Amino acid sequence: MAIQRVAILGSTGSIGVSTLDVIRAHPDRFQVVALTAGRQVERLAEQCLEFKPLIAVVTDAVGASRLSDLLREQHCTTGVLYGPEALVSAVLNSDCDTVMAAIVGAAGLAPTLAAAKAGKRVLLANKESLVMAGDLFMQAMKLGGGELLPIDSEHNAIFQCLPADFTSAPQASFGVEELWLTASGGPFRNTPLADLAMITPDQACAHPNWVMGRKISVDSATMMNKGLEVIEALWLFGLPLEKIKVVIHPQSVVHSMVRYRDGSVIAQMGQPDMRTPIAYGLAWPERIDAGVAQLNLTQLSALNFAEPDLERFPCLNMAFTAARAGGTAPTVLNAANEIAVAAFLDQGLPYLQIPAIVEQTLDQIQVSPATSIEHLLEIDAQARQLAGKLVTQVSSR
Ligand code: NAD
Ligand code: MG
Repeated sequence: MAIQRVAILGSTGSIGVSTLDVIRAHPDRFQVVALTAGRQVERLAEQCLEFKPLIAVVTDAVGASRLSDLLREQHCTTGVLYGPEALVSAVLNSDCDTVMAAIVGAAGLAPTLAAAKAGKRVLLANKESLVMAGDLFMQAMKLGGGELLPIDSEHNAIFQCLPADFTSAPQASFGVEELWLTASGGPFRNTPLADLAMITPDQACAHPNWVMGRKISVDSATMMNKGLEVIEALWLFGLPLEKIKVVIHPQSVVHSMVRYRDGSVIAQMGQPDMRTPIAYGLAWPERIDAGVAQLNLTQLSALNFAEPDLERFPCLNMAFTAARAGGTAPTVLNAANEIAVAAFLDQGLPYLQIPAIVEQTLDQIQVSPATSIEHLLEIDAQARQLAGKLVTQVSSR
């Protein structure tokens, strides 16, 4: 078996670290050829010393010089680059076969798109790039001819529950009627609505079942995460919006389901541990040890399912509206959400202002067709600027 050469975009994050954990256990199968991080230079240096990639990328020149110093001290020959273009070079010049796309937010779009066009196996965790530019991204994947494997646990579950050639034969329905995305409901599923106004970033990031980066943790609390995942599912599986359902499942054991015409519902279950979908994506179509504890059904007290409450979770509703509107609406939704969540985490924007900012931004930017990446990047910038202005207005009140 030829060794698989892996580039990890966002290697210092929650998904990146879990990916390296799976890779570490299988040195006979995988070799790390590129690692990239935002600002966590020390952590990236440790990863380079352990995995010895050809290329490492950080955001800016200061970080790059610090990383070079740390690596030189230890006689590590990894080449250090910085900036957004260097992320694309890490994908194109490291001679990788597989790219783990695990940068958070729209910053992940360009290198993920480059991986798609270059025909790499793309392990997609960065859902924001699909929400922002789903149609163009799927076209790029098709042109490149590589494999796209969903890493988001729900989409990975659905991928596992669908027939093997479901996505390559779009004309055939295979009797699939609906996709059911499960959602834990986050930390505020039962919090009295009146208390939501005072939620702090640490409360929002304390997810009951999953340990994740801070942005996706806040998205899980507002359920914008599930909204983004509905849009992600539209592109990944090519089904109309009315066939994609969200169901609250607080235990996060059933990762998602597919309902078939004959009455069958196929579910994928497991521990809430991202190493399972990561190992699945890395080794597909084979299965390898992911280092995950076994699921013990007899120790589960119950599996509950309920309808989501759209009044409690207006972000989920807005995502459905943006998905229905199509064109640039999901791009605007995603950009405004990134700005509002960052302001909540770093600048004290009140929690309930997150949906308010997203809603106002969506209201003020007219939907147009998603014609090119350049056009989407313009709309993304416009939405960020407007959402930023709205945040400033709230803060100065
Ligand atoms: P994280 O915040 O823990 O890590 C993000 C990574 O991206 C880090 O390595 C960071 O240094 C890098 N990064 C951030 N901004 C950057 C920038 N501007 N330029 C270059 N690099 C940058 O996030 P995470 O929880 O690992 O999530 C990563 C992606 O995976 C997100 O899109 C998220 O929605 C998705 N995802 C995560 C989980 C999970 O369990 N954590 C599950 C499903 C999907
Ligand atoms: Mg998910």
